[in-house]
Amino acid sequence: MTYMLSGECVMFLLCHETENPIMVWKKMIGNKDPAEAKKADPQSLRATYGTSIIKNEFHGSDDPFSANKERDIFKFPIPQKIPDFKFDKMLVSLETLFKFLYPPNLEHSNALERLDIFAIYGPCVNYHSVDQCLCRECAIIGKEHLEGVRESLIATEQTKLGIKIRPQPTTATKTQLPQRVQLPPIRLLKEEDIKQVYQQLCEKCQFHCNGYTHLQGGRNMQHITTDQELNTLAKEMNKQEILELLYSEKGNAANVMIETIDLNEPNHYTKEMIELLFQELETDYYNRFKFYHLQNVILEDRRIRMNAWMSILINKPIHRFKNPKLVCKVPPEMRKNPESIHYTINRILPLNQTYKKKDITKMPLDFPPNIADKEKLNPNEEKLALLKKLHRDTHHMVEIQDAKKVVSNGVYLLRKYNDGRNGDWDNYSSLKGMNRGSYVNYEEKKKKEKL
Ligand SMILES: [Zn+2]
Ligand SMILES: [Zn+2]
Ligand SMILES: [Zn+2]
Repeated sequence: MTYMLSGECVMFLLCHETENPIMVWKKMIGNKDPAEAKKADPQSLRATYGTSIIKNEFHGSDDPFSANKERDIFKFPIPQKIPDFKFDKMLVSLETLFKFLYPPNLEHSNALERLDIFAIYGPCVNYHSVDQCLCRECAIIGKEHLEGVRESLIATEQTKLGIKIRPQPTTATKTQLPQRVQLPPIRLLKEEDIKQVYQQLCEKCQFHCNGYTHLQGGRNMQHITTDQELNTLAKEMNKQEILELLYSEKGNAANVMIETIDLNEPNHYTKEMIELLFQELETDYYNRFKFYHLQNVILEDRRIRMNAWMSILINKPIHRFKNPKLVCKVPPEMRKNPESIHYTINRILPLNQTYKKKDITKMPLDFPPNIADKEKLNPNEEKLALLKKLHRDTHHMVEIQDAKKVVSNGVYLLRKYNDGRNGDWDNYSSLKGMNRGSYVNYEEKKKKEKL
């Protein structure tokens, strides 16, 4: 090591797609003892330049593990071939999924409801309907784009098949033909189409394409966009499932019971819980999951949630609901494999009942003392201490927009947190006019009260 550090050194990161660079390099440098190297392979680098076993002049990593370790010591970037990005609707990233679960128009979207619909009717895709999603101007752009794509596709097909293109009938003859009443086709701009026309879209439509993903399938294979429709679908799904479970528990009484049940699922999952659900699944280079994996996990989780729901409805302990996938004898690896039909989740409670938030009892408790609690203050700390004291139970805004600087410097807008808009107005000084009398200066007021 000291010898290696005694002079200049040159480092190489050797990579090869097919050959093993470790073995090739080892062969090139030869035995670590130059004397041995001279015997075995006089052409080798150590045989030519080395003088002793310590001063053998060359080093090579022994195996991929040490190669990686040494690569990191010298801070070489990790060599890897970046795979080409291909649009594939069966590959879904969490980002795309969350766009569907939390659409920007809903403040409190029922993510779990949407998650189930995604699993059953999905995948959700970055596809947008020309007729339903875009405004009139942008729809024209979208249609033109799709026409262009279609024509070029036909043209390439025809040249492939060697068909000569017949002259198109002129528009004049077209309009003369009697128009048949036909439902408009569902025109979808796919992910790659959106990428191409995005810059031409208006701001509103760009926002739509950025913020939303939709289900491509659904009822009549329509492009599902409305929240109302999703909610109805979810309730129907829940009704069917709960009814089945009720039949097996209560027999024909189920028909009567189902009418009294609120079909909105009682469980709620947060974003973290949904992420947790998929944490063991593999993703591709672009962090995309296989849709069928997601589907398998969600449906298994749904089974658990439905059982938990049932256990509340009919007052039966949750552990008495059997997992049908544990009945058949399959090796445990199969149960963990999301590709397998035997895949199952090893818990009986929904995530919102098992999920633990970060343990705050382990947080350090020795925070530095607050300046507001200090008994003796330095003259320069007085103002800061006062501000900190006020911060404890008041809302404090230092800057007031469009106020004259002279005035705004001396004014604090103060309001107790819990008072709300119609709270204690004595504590609330607000900017109403431009004269000084319309402000209440909390500090000055306090001084006056003391006097
Ligand atoms: Zn809210
Ligand atoms: Zn859309
Ligand atoms: Zn538009």
